[in-house]
Amino acid sequence: MTAVLSEETRTRDAIVAVGKSLFERGLTFGSTGNISVRLSTGEMLMTPTNASLGALDPARLSRFSAEGVHTAGDTPTKEAFLHQCMYCKRPEHAAVVHLHSTHSVAVSILADVDPEDALPPLTAYYVMRVGALPLVPYFPPGDTALAEAVALKAEKSHAVLLANHGPVVAGRTLADAQYATEELEETAKLFLLLRGSAIRPLSDEQRRALRR
Ligand code: ZN
Repeated sequence: MTAVLSEETRTRDAIVAVGKSLFERGLTFGSTGNISVRLSTGEMLMTPTNASLGALDPARLSRFSAEGVHTAGDTPTKEAFLHQCMYCKRPEHAAVVHLHSTHSVAVSILADVDPEDALPPLTAYYVMRVGALPLVPYFPPGDTALAEAVALKAEKSHAVLLANHGPVVAGRTLADAQYATEELEETAKLFLLLRGSAIRPLSDEQRRALRR
């Protein structure tokens, strides 16, 4: 029991620290963005609704049973279903970060991105941390069809980009999910900086070599 409690305490503190770090660097703003972690028991901790990621209280994080029922803490984010559909398709992943980070959202609004992979393989680190980035079609907030669309894309990739909304990224650990989300945001920024220029993304062979 002690070990379970200490895992949960450590996880609560880690969620608060990551939220503060993302907020202070302008990767999220207002009460947007949410973070979750699935504990080894299958239970889940998630940031609450209307909470700034810059000022989270570890004791008030929303807690879910392994069956996905809210059992304790503040009311969960309305976007809890985005996290749940990533976890149900990615059993090996234990953390999800969702942001409305500016450059990633900008890419999600462009009319001419490839819906199967919204960003080109600009750097090795992007390929290693993110890989393919399917675009999920736009649905209004709270539309259950969005959950189905995310689940469909999450089968193929641990990172998806919601059209006119933002990225949802799963990781084996909270740090993995955080770093992949940051790599995605920086790559989106590079992509926008390079718009209109002739670019030389990694070749298929160069991409394959990174996955070995
Ligand atoms: Zn959102």
